[in-house]
Amino acid sequence: MQLKGVRGAPDLLPQESARWQRVEATTRSLLQRYGYAEIRTPVFERTELFVRGIGEGTDIVEKEMYTFTDQGEVNLTLRPEGTAPVVRAYLEHQMATQFPFVKVYYLGPMFRRERPQSGRYRQFHQIGVEAIGSHQPAVDAEVIDLLWALMVEELRIPDLQLRLNSIGDAACRPTIRDRLLRYMADRSSGLCHDCQGRLTRNPLRIMDCKQAGCQSLVAEAPKPIESLCEACAAHFAEVRSLLDILKIPYTIDDRLVRGLEYYTKTAFEVINPRLGAQNALAGGGRFDGLIEAMGGPSTPGIGFAVGLERVMASLPSASDEGALHGVYVATIGREAQRIGMGLLQELRRRGMRGLMDLEARSLKGQMRQANKERVRYCVILGEDELRQGQVMLRDMVKADQGSVALEQIVEHLVGLEAVCEREHGTP
Ligand code: AMP
Repeated sequence: MQLKGVRGAPDLLPQESARWQRVEATTRSLLQRYGYAEIRTPVFERTELFVRGIGEGTDIVEKEMYTFTDQGEVNLTLRPEGTAPVVRAYLEHQMATQFPFVKVYYLGPMFRRERPQSGRYRQFHQIGVEAIGSHQPAVDAEVIDLLWALMVEELRIPDLQLRLNSIGDAACRPTIRDRLLRYMADRSSGLCHDCQGRLTRNPLRIMDCKQAGCQSLVAEAPKPIESLCEACAAHFAEVRSLLDILKIPYTIDDRLVRGLEYYTKTAFEVINPRLGAQNALAGGGRFDGLIEAMGGPSTPGIGFAVGLERVMASLPSASDEGALHGVYVATIGREAQRIGMGLLQELRRRGMRGLMDLEARSLKGQMRQANKERVRYCVILGEDELRQGQVMLRDMVKADQGSVALEQIVEHLVGLEAVCEREHGTP
């Protein structure tokens, strides 16, 4: 019987991986410009970390974690998100003693036992950032500016919306919660089954339930933004005014609450309306209560996570393939193939992308292969030319060709590639 992969845990095939690598490289370069350094934490952690860090009343902790017992001793969980592990590492390695303000990013697979559908997987990839150690609204604005720059300026995803809200902090959250519960008290029979449960565990989550019945109830419900304490209201006003200065367009979404319990004050999401039901590309917010809840000193933080699968689904497909680059060495006859292998080795050692046929295909077959591989140049080694110490060089973009001395072909190609790189930024 042929074995199949697990539903909701897709493969990334070779024909798609170049696109992913481009997105990752673009993102890493931007993050570096904003002063973020990479952190890599393990894909599994003690289950307790996520229970404490994400919160017991959340969907993730209640029903979506991949948890197992390691040798009957420790309960471990495949990470469903990146913030709790980063905070764990931050505390464990006492990062605060070296840097009072820490800016880190992570990139890797996350695991949630959700119902798989388009844009929602059980293994998916996130790029996330965390800025830990500052209460300043300027940090919120910088983090949101970074997310917007990534999506719009760097990845050039069209028609995105940035949604912004404030959900209060330890001082005003009890009021926000009480007002909502009071409103829901004699209306709760209209809530869906999940939200009935949320009433006691995590009532704020009712705000962003997608069920029609809940949505119509929520439309009239008191919103967190209406009950902010003075400090939260001032913080939010400053974040908004900085975003205006930075010319970041946003809309206030007073129902945006985010799924994870530890969020405070600023909450935001980037939406791609073209994506259908799973249209959130990224989400984030402040988590001023999290570090203390995880046993550390009271320390503020803010971050976001971008879902890479949804980013890939949002990219325009036209400019997908990138410029032609590299060399294909085509050979006619056994002797030419031997010389070709040596040539290829030298080209690769000089840093060029080099390919050739090792299956003794016809010249026509080799040229077809060269086109498929999207190389910029083809070097053709024929028996007659080789006898005269010559090879044929074909430029696949300009569609012209000429002969070059075998002895000089490597230098010649390295030179051509350098010119290409100067002119187009890519080899
Ligand atoms: P969250 O950690 O839930 O705030 O999610 C942040 C981002 O990760 C979302 O906006 C999505 O783009 C992405 N994401 C979350 N869950 C999934 C999933 N099951 N499959 C694919 N992407 C996801």
